Amino acid sequence: MKIGTPLSESATRVMLLGAGELGKEVIIALQRYGVEVIAVDRYENAPGHQVAHKAVVVDMTDPKALRSVIEKYSPHYIVPEIEAIATDVLAVVDDEGVSTVIPTAKAVQLTMNREGIRTLAAEELGLPTSPYAFASSLDEVREAITGDIGFPCLIKPVMSSSGKGQSLLKSETDIDGAWSYAQEGGRVSGSRVIIEGFVDFDYEITLLTVRSIGKGGEVETSFCNPIGHRQESGDYVESWQPMAMSEQALANAQLIAEKVTTALGGQGIFGVELFVKDDDVWFSEVSPRPHDTGLVTLITQKQNEFELHARALLGLPVDTSQTLEGASAVIYGGMDGKAISYAGLADALMESDTEIRLFGKPEAFERRRMGVAVASGDDTDLARQKAALAASKIKPTLS
Ligand code: AMP
Repeated sequence: MKIGTPLSESATRVMLLGAGELGKEVIIALQRYGVEVIAVDRYENAPGHQVAHKAVVVDMTDPKALRSVIEKYSPHYIVPEIEAIATDVLAVVDDEGVSTVIPTAKAVQLTMNREGIRTLAAEELGLPTSPYAFASSLDEVREAITGDIGFPCLIKPVMSSSGKGQSLLKSETDIDGAWSYAQEGGRVSGSRVIIEGFVDFDYEITLLTVRSIGKGGEVETSFCNPIGHRQESGDYVESWQPMAMSEQALANAQLIAEKVTTALGGQGIFGVELFVKDDDVWFSEVSPRPHDTGLVTLITQKQNEFELHARALLGLPVDTSQTLEGASAVIYGGMDGKAISYAGLADALMESDTEIRLFGKPEAFERRRMGVAVASGDDTDLARQKAALAASKIKPTLS
């Protein structure tokens, strides 16, 4: 394994497809090894654009445009950070040997669509999941619910993430509204939906799972400590690590994560999302990339999830050990506006063992994630309080 000199003929080039806050941290980790990074996003001055060697604006759902940008920069590795990508192009360039897609083109294709990954997990791998069905019409939705699934249940567009277009249905009267909401909320209009039986879990976790090259030169799987998190409207608000779990639940969680990541293959980090009740664990979904709830690892681990992804994809050894108990709390825009400012940073950082990351997004929305506070503490409860307090001290203002 060799790394060249950036911006020269020997450069090791990595192209990030999506340059949001997670991509930005992956880029910083890659930059530290002297990797040349090309950051691609659909809008100018995305967070990752600001720390990459080259910043490109392109509609990544347009296969022609995506292909031409890959040909122009001929990256050795392509690292998707988002799901809205013309993934067929990735399969082709990977096949042709132009670039290696991280972790694999197949993983990116299967996970961009809830139907692909759910079918793999439940039907091919036999992993425990909520009961589910797919539907393309209101009639099919009704049939699925009155058939096996029942109430309460959730409806989600198959092409969506982070709670977009998702509703919880309690009775018959919720069906029409949930169907229309799913049609509006998917990445592509008129999308199919998944209907999922509601899992009455005690808590949910993200199990960051890394596939990297071990001492013997073979791919091996390692796990970070489980991350607990709280979601509001399907979007993460705070996370903490470790999440206390029974030994049996952790063993079940690791087995599920190992099976699904082995099936997806390649090298890199995966965010495996699981529901837990007592010792029982259900697979929910998996991202073949760093996970937003894993921002907590910026303070808790020897190598955070971004460093782990960078190392794993480059074929370098990894260490998933945790050094501190900690938590993260999201900082929202709190308003709609461009070029906003943030007051209260000094105040927030007065708190010991607390750090703030501001992502530098050019435009804020009321519920857009603009930054994160991370804190360590004697235990995760204390760390959660500190992170929430620090986040609350950051005051977005119109400059
Ligand atoms: P998702 O976009 O699928 O990750 O869903 C966002 C959040 O909604 C999850 O993190 C859970 O908190 C909740 N959720 C999703 N599916 C289910 C389910 N089948 N049962 C209970 N809660 C769910």
